[in-house]
Amino acid sequence: MRAREEIHLDRIALPPEGERIQVIEEKLVVPYRPIIPFIEGDGIGPDITRAAQRVWNAAVTKAYGGNRKIVWLELFAGEKALQRYGEVLPQDTFWAIEHFVVAIKGPLTTPVGTGYRSLNVTLRQILDLYACVRPVAYLPGVPSPVTHPERMDIVIFRENTEDVYAGIEWPKGSEEGAKVISYLNKEFDLHIPQDSGIGIKPISQKATQRLVRKAIQYAIGQDRRSVTIMHKGNIMKFTEGAFRDWAYQVAREEFPEQTVTEKEVQEKYDGEAPPGKVMIKDRIADSMFQQVLTRTDQYDVIAAPNLNGDYLSDACAAQVGGLGMAPGANIGDFTALFEATHGTAPKYAGLDVVNPSSLILSGKMMLGYIGWHEAAELTQSALVRTIQQKKMTYDLARQMQDATKLKTSEFASAIVENM
Ligand code: NAP
Repeated sequence: MRAREEIHLDRIALPPEGERIQVIEEKLVVPYRPIIPFIEGDGIGPDITRAAQRVWNAAVTKAYGGNRKIVWLELFAGEKALQRYGEVLPQDTFWAIEHFVVAIKGPLTTPVGTGYRSLNVTLRQILDLYACVRPVAYLPGVPSPVTHPERMDIVIFRENTEDVYAGIEWPKGSEEGAKVISYLNKEFDLHIPQDSGIGIKPISQKATQRLVRKAIQYAIGQDRRSVTIMHKGNIMKFTEGAFRDWAYQVAREEFPEQTVTEKEVQEKYDGEAPPGKVMIKDRIADSMFQQVLTRTDQYDVIAAPNLNGDYLSDACAAQVGGLGMAPGANIGDFTALFEATHGTAPKYAGLDVVNPSSLILSGKMMLGYIGWHEAAELTQSALVRTIQQKKMTYDLARQMQDATKLKTSEFASAIVENM
């Protein structure tokens, strides 16, 4: 990766105005006209990106009366990059995200079972965006399949760089796969059938602890009550079980004053965490899925390995209106790539019908991340007002009687009018 200071993009013209966000002395320094790169994405990406940019631009103008403005810089990935660069993930895109520190993207296509690696996973790994942060909270007026969706107010910190997503796997019958199987069978006296596909699941102390550190720091900074470590350590003892142990170690060694374990709360504090302390607890993954449904309001921040976090994020999102409503971000030490959490929904591409809320709310997170809280709040409140007026896209409208079904672009216009 090149140094942050220099940028030489091959096929992208830098905007004539705007400055870059910088990291100075461990802090983001945000100019009034920050250059923020965006990737439209494939499938429904262009529809939702157009709609969301109108909403964010209007919120920024309204909040700061024209004193601040996002200067957008388009980057390319996926199908559009293939046309322009002849490759799906060009260097320009990595360099520009590194250089400009904060960026936002639509969904990108990942074909299943082709040996073609996920562009999203590649972006996260190369940029070392190790925490996937997904807040899942109920917005009033959104139709939900559960009785008390308002009880959900959870922020999931999903480890983003390793676990089964490390991409260490070989197909059945491959030379590499056969070698690995023979080695394991011989050296460890195992009996893995030769006709197996094989994958390796690494979970490291370093990656676990930086993720958990971020989750605990967030919980402390946002006055959250607890951090739950989600794992399947009863079965995968040295990966998921170790994730749990390393997570407790971070809390114990780095945040002894600000945290207390659930065990201590039971033994010393009569079941009630002392005020101002974040309770650290852990749950086995299968139980976690049940708990978020049955005892939703007892969970707050959740730290999970990659695969658990992936599953749980979608399951939680379903309780508050589905993937069309769920925002997300991939965050490293400072570099942050905000994104819609759903996929490219190819059957709706170009039809101007899908829900842009996931991307709009990811942009709201982004505005908060750069400290533009007024614009962030305006974005969310106008979105909520629009939904409360029962003006919504098809996915929400079909779950409600007497809703007005709007196109993606009409929904964006309604949000802007509501600011
Ligand atoms: P998907 O694109 O998320 O779509 C699945 C279904 O979810 C859609 O058919 C639609 O349901 C609903 N949906 C998704 N986004 C919506 C929106 N904005 N508004 C309303 N409804 C929405 O999942 P997929 O079909 O499994 O994946 C398609 C491609 O996207 C794959 O190549 C996958 O790898 C990729 N993907 C990318 C990302 C990413 O870039 N971060 C994430 C996930 C998947 P109905 O049909 O019921 O209306």
